[in-house]
This record gives sequence, structure tokens and C-alpha cells, in this order.
Amino acid sequence: MSETPQTPQPQQTPQSATATADADEPSATTPEMEEAARAGRALPLVMSAPRGRKKPPPHLADLDPAGRKALLEDNGLPGFRAKQLSTHYFARLVDAPEQMTDLPAAQRGELVSTLLPELMTPVRTSEADRGTTRKTLWRLFDGALVESVLMRYTDRTTMCVSSQAGCGMACPFCATGQGGLQRNMSTAEIVEQVMAGARSLARGEVPGGPGRVNNVVFMGMGEPLANYKAVVGAVRRLTDPAPDGLGMSARGVTVSTVGLVPRIRQLTEEGVPLTLALSLHAPDDELRNELVPINTRFSVAETVDAAWQYARTTKRRVSIEYAMMRGINDQGWRADLLADVLYATGADWGWVHVNLIPLNPTPGSKWTASDPADEQEFVRRLEARGIPTTVRDTRGREIDGACGQLAASELA
Ligand code: SAH
Repeated sequence: MSETPQTPQPQQTPQSATATADADEPSATTPEMEEAARAGRALPLVMSAPRGRKKPPPHLADLDPAGRKALLEDNGLPGFRAKQLSTHYFARLVDAPEQMTDLPAAQRGELVSTLLPELMTPVRTSEADRGTTRKTLWRLFDGALVESVLMRYTDRTTMCVSSQAGCGMACPFCATGQGGLQRNMSTAEIVEQVMAGARSLARGEVPGGPGRVNNVVFMGMGEPLANYKAVVGAVRRLTDPAPDGLGMSARGVTVSTVGLVPRIRQLTEEGVPLTLALSLHAPDDELRNELVPINTRFSVAETVDAAWQYARTTKRRVSIEYAMMRGINDQGWRADLLADVLYATGADWGWVHVNLIPLNPTPGSKWTASDPADEQEFVRRLEARGIPTTVRDTRGREIDGACGQLAASELA
């Protein structure tokens, strides 16, 4: 692991960034909440982002081609330049004005600042696995901090992106959940995390030679379906053919959710064939109410049914995420119950697979990863019932880049 400071270390902590926001708005993290988290007490669920925040500047990646043209014209600039800027951004993977030599030098600065304003600056990059896992901490225009992780494998590269600064879902084992929700990210802020990775791959900065992003997983900070519109917009930008978008396959995009049932239903109707991952973590309401507090609003049965409807309609296999916690949710009988719950939908085809995630303990956490023997037994029982099961690798663990470890602390 190596740490590469890219800008001088900032003075602000995430807490002071929150404190500088409107004093009368509900603050995302208070000292009381942090104390509650340390003591293992339940945090409140926060369903919507605090109001009154300033929005990031509009950016090409927020807009469809007509919107890009209109934004230029509204600023007294020629609309036809939008397509050239889109080609630089999405097709050539260029964001430096000097490289946009087909734009008139006199107007270039204005065109770029109108459609490609800087949305985020890298604060720090941490590397592991000989540089093939890279976590970047970004500062957004208002000081909010988010993280993204690039993971290069022999045959593909995956970008794990954030969809919110913080998260309001309050899952007690997740580092992000302990910090509360600061704000929703814009479509362009989400897309730009992928584009930054795509540009460094294209420039050959990641070991393994020049490459491209094959997969995007919404498994960074935030609950993507709580920021539905911006996330669906980002998926459209990533999958629209170049130069309107990045031209990725929708099959390469995975949206992971705690299970906001009405939003899963909406996504089912959306007609984007992405992969849905459901963070189940327990097959019974009693335990899931504690591990994934949204379960107090939508039961296991209701949530699994919504996921099954998604699979049935889109013909995309759903992934069930299950973080294995020693002595908490890893008993053999819970594996059997999980199989029952997944079959209760009446599904007669392989609509689902289970992805077991070895728990990454967060600082001070009372939970630890399961005993390998218990993990194997859990896998065996699910497979005995015909449910394909995999165990997630824990890449990036030592740089706090693995699942559930993104906390965006500038001091870490
Ligand atoms: N809000 C979305 C995305 C979160 S991160 C969701 O909950 O699905 C992606 C996955 O990492 C989720 O399944 C989440 O439950 C899991 N996760 C969170 N904290 C973890 C931890 N400490 N160890 C292992 N997995 C964790």
C-alpha cells in the first residue's frame, strides 16, 4: 500500500464540512450520533437528503445532447460545439482544454467551463495489489467527501462508485452508515468518478497497460435508490453510445440496494437491463431489522418478492449480498432459512445467486468475520438447495477500500 498525497492536506474534517452548512438544516452527523455509533446504539434512518444545499454546477454528464446544446446557447455560445465537447469527454476521454484543438482557442476556455466545470478534486489516492486497486478520496465543490475504488483484474476493470456523500440507511456494521447522510450526488458527480478511472486506464496509468472500464458497481458510499433520479441518469450516461455517453453495456452495471421496495419496483419498469444486488444479510425479520434498519419498513418477504419481480421482468439474475458475521447471521439454520426465503417466491428458474461477503470489521465494531468452516458450511447448504453461491474477495481491505469500509475520513 502506498499513499500519494495529490493536494496539500486540507484542514477541514468531514464534521466541520457539515457544520459549515446552513445552521438550521438537519445536520448529517452530530457528535451525539457519532457517540451513539461508538456505543453501538441504533442511528435514525434518514430517507431524504437535507434541504437547502447548494447544487453542483451543471455539467455535460448531467444532460442529454439537447440539454447540452441548450446550456451552451443559454450562455451565448454556439450549440453545435456541444457534440465536440461530448466527443472529447466520452469518446476520447480527454478533459484538458489544451487537447481540444478542434475548438477555437479564443472560445475554448468558456466552452469548457460551461459544459465541463471541475466537479471534484482528488484529495488522496491509496493503492494496494501493486497498484491494481486504487481508492481515491474526492472533495466535491462544497467540501463534501466521497470515495471511489478502481479494481483491475486480469480480464476486466471494475469501478466502485459512490452515489451519496454519506448514507442515511444506518446499517450498524457499515462504516459509511455510521457517518449519516450529507447529501445526494448529482448525475455528473457520479459519472465523473467512472470517467476519472477511464481516463487513467486509457493513459496507461494503471499497471497492465492501457485499458477500459468494463464494470461499474454502485457499492461505494450511499444508497443508490435513495438518490434514484441521479443514479438512473448516471446509468443512462454510462450506457448511451459514444459520444452521447460512455457506451458501456448495461449488463456491466450493478446497483446495490438495502431494498427500497417502491424504488425496486420503479427500476423494474425503467427498462434498463442492469444487475440488481440486494443487501439482505439476514433471512429473518428479527435479525434484519437490526442489521439493515430499513427492514422495519419493508419486510424480508416483501423485499425478496420485489427483487424476484425485477428478475422475472428483466430476465437479469439478482445478486443477494450477505455479509458473513461470526455468530450473528452465519448459522447453518440461517442458510437453510435463506434458501427457503429465496424459493418462497415460487420461482422455478435460477433467478438469484448469493454473494457472501466476509465482513470487513469497522473500527470499534462488535462484529467480526465468520469462521472459515462456518462460511464453507453456509455455502454447502445453499448449494445443496441449488442456489449458486460465491464468496467475494476482499480486495483493497488494507486501504479501507473493501465493501463497507468507505468512510471518507481525511484524517485516516
Ligand atoms: N447502500 C447500498 C450500497 C452499499 S455498499 C447497499 O447497502 O447495498 C455494498 C455492500 O457492502 C452492501 O451489501 C453492504 O451491506 C456491504 N457492506 C457494508 N459494510 C460492510 C462491511 N463492514 N463488511 C462487508 N460488507 C459490508
